[in-house]
Amino acid sequence: MTEIFLPDDVKRWVRKRMIFSALVFALLEIVIIILLVLVGERLFSALGDVGQMLCYIVLLALPVAITRFPIKLIDKTWSGEVTKVDVQTVSAFTNEGKPRRYTQNEVYLTVQRTDGRIVSHKVEVFGAKTDRAAAIAMDSYTAVKPEHFLDKYKVGCTVYHFYGIKRLFIINPEQKDITMCIVCGRENRADADVCWDCGYSLIKDTDK
Ligand SMILES: [Zn+2]
Repeated sequence: MTEIFLPDDVKRWVRKRMIFSALVFALLEIVIIILLVLVGERLFSALGDVGQMLCYIVLLALPVAITRFPIKLIDKTWSGEVTKVDVQTVSAFTNEGKPRRYTQNEVYLTVQRTDGRIVSHKVEVFGAKTDRAAAIAMDSYTAVKPEHFLDKYKVGCTVYHFYGIKRLFIINPEQKDITMCIVCGRENRADADVCWDCGYSLIKDTDK
């Protein structure tokens, strides 16, 4: 597997996002701590010591759930190969049995990592209105069809995950003329240097 590297401007983008979530995390924690100090006793005293402590723990853990900040720090870069592509259609009915306005398809990749681990990743969500006329209109508007994703994601594709970036970088040997922008996910011509949409540098795959 070829080793590929993130362009410097994309590395800076990752760093900026990491600092931003650290700041949001710290700010939320400070606000919650101040609120607990000021009104915590009054709000939760009826719950008893254990109940009060549980409420404090849940509230203090909220910023972690929202920003996923400290968890993000232990993220690791890895690469692997797609062993399975799975398109799942999410139920077109609500729990009450009413039809939804949209059906939603989700593309999952099963990846055998070079370190031996097997992981599953949701890489794409696409939907169509259940109403046929609207579905055709939307399809021609977005030019996105399920077949498109099945061409894009194939068993045998090489997959890269970079520290701090949720989106996977996928190299499809059958689509050598296009490359994906790791920042915004748009498809670009493989010979382009920067993304036509967001302007960040594109990852260069030396095999191309
Ligand atoms: Zn882009």
